Amino acid sequence: MTFEPTLDFARQLDAQDPLRGFRQQFLIPPGPDGQGECLYFCGNSLGLQPRTARAAAEVQFENWQNLAVEGHFKGDTPWMPFHERLQGPSARVVGAKPHEVVVMNNLTTNLHLLLISFYQPTATRYKVLMEGGAFPSDQYALETQVKLRGFAPDDAIVELEPRPGEHTLRTEDIVAKIAELGDSLCTIIMGGLNYYTGQVFDMEAITRAGHAAGALVGFDLAHAAGNVPLQLHDWDVDFACWCSYKYLNSGPGGVAGAYVHERFAERPELLRLAGWWGHDEEERFQMKKGFKPMHGAAGWQLSNGTVLSMAVHEAALKIHDEAGGMPALRRKSELLTGYLEFFIRRLNLPKERLEIITPQDPAQRGCQLSILVHQGGRDLFEHLMAVGVIGDWREPNVIRLAPTPLYNTFEDVFRVGEVLTEWAK
Ligand SMILES: *Cc1c(COP(=O)(O)O)cnc(C)c1O
Repeated sequence: MTFEPTLDFARQLDAQDPLRGFRQQFLIPPGPDGQGECLYFCGNSLGLQPRTARAAAEVQFENWQNLAVEGHFKGDTPWMPFHERLQGPSARVVGAKPHEVVVMNNLTTNLHLLLISFYQPTATRYKVLMEGGAFPSDQYALETQVKLRGFAPDDAIVELEPRPGEHTLRTEDIVAKIAELGDSLCTIIMGGLNYYTGQVFDMEAITRAGHAAGALVGFDLAHAAGNVPLQLHDWDVDFACWCSYKYLNSGPGGVAGAYVHERFAERPELLRLAGWWGHDEEERFQMKKGFKPMHGAAGWQLSNGTVLSMAVHEAALKIHDEAGGMPALRRKSELLTGYLEFFIRRLNLPKERLEIITPQDPAQRGCQLSILVHQGGRDLFEHLMAVGVIGDWREPNVIRLAPTPLYNTFEDVFRVGEVLTEWAK
C-alpha cells in the first residue's frame, strides 16, 4: 500500500477497517491534561482494560458471596474446572490443541516449571541456547536452572549474538549455531519475539534444527501471544509459555499460559514439580500418596486456579476471538505498523541519530517498532509522554511503540507521526 501522511488518508483507512468497532470495547486512559484520550502505544507492555473485564470479575465476586466454598462445584462457572474454559481460546491464540495448553501461575513461574521437565542435562548434553539480551527474567531463570543442575552458567548457557553492525539475528546463523552445538545441546529456549528489538524468530526452522540436533525446543511467547500468528503444534514446538497482560489484555500480573506438545501428554514419568491441581482429577480429592499427573499440559498445574484473574482473561480472550483471531488482527497489524514505520522513515534522519532496529520484513515483526535513538533519546521519550503518546523506554536508548490492532486506529498513528515530525524539525 502507498501511504499518505494526511489525516484524511488515516481516517479513510479507519473507515475501511473491519476491526474499527473493537476500540469501543476498551477503556482508553485520558490524555496528559486529563482530557480526551491518550495515544496508547504500549500494548506490548500492558494491554488496555476491556470494558467486559470488571463485570467478568464481578460475577465471580458474586459467586464467592453467594456460594462460598460451593462455588468450586456449583454455579454457571464452577471454579474447580475453571481452567478448562480457557483451554480452547488459548489454544487458538498459540496454534495448539486444547489439551496442549493450560492457563496457570505467572510467566516466569511457568518457565521454571517447564524447564524442570525440558532442561534435563546429562554430563555431555547440557548446553542451553538462548538469544543474547533476552528479557532479564528469562536470563535469571536460565542461570538458576543451570546452577540447579550443577552446571556453570558461563559454560552451559550459549547466547546468540547478531553479526557485527547488525541488530537482529539471522535464521541461518541460529541454525548454524544449533548444528555446531550438536550433541552438547540439551535445550533451546528463546523469545518467540524479542522484547527489545521486536524481531520475530523463525520458530519452525529453529524447532526443526533443534530436533535434528537431538535437543528440545521451547519459546517464551510473552510478546508473541496475541501479536503474531503462532502454530506451535504444527511447528512441533516442545514447550512454551506466555503472559496474558501484554497483547492479551488480561490485566496487570494476570494469569499466564503454558503449552506442552501432545507427545508428552501421556508421559507421567516425565520429571516435573507437582502439586495437587496437576493430579488426576478423578482422584484429586482422595488425597492419596503418589502423584499421578493429569493428561496433557494440565498435568503441570500446581495450585487451584486464580479464578478472578482467569475470569478477566476469559473475557479478554473472547474479544480476541470475536475479532476473528490472529488472521484478522494480523492483517490490520501489518498495515498499522507499516503506517507508523512510514512516518518514522519520512523523518529522514541519519542512522547515526535514529534508526528502527525492528526488521523491515513484516514476517519478522509484530506490532512493535523499536526505535534506537542515538542522541537525545530520553528527551524524545519524555516529550512523547508529555504530549500524551504512551510508549516505553528501554535502557540504554530504545523507544518502543506498539500500535495494536484491537484498539489503535490509523488516526492514532497519524497523530504520533505528527508529533515525531514536529520533533525532528
Ligand atoms: C514481559 C516478560 C516477562 C515478564 O515475566 P512475568 O513473570 O510475567 O513477570 C518475562 N519474559 C519476557 C520475554 C517478557 O517479555
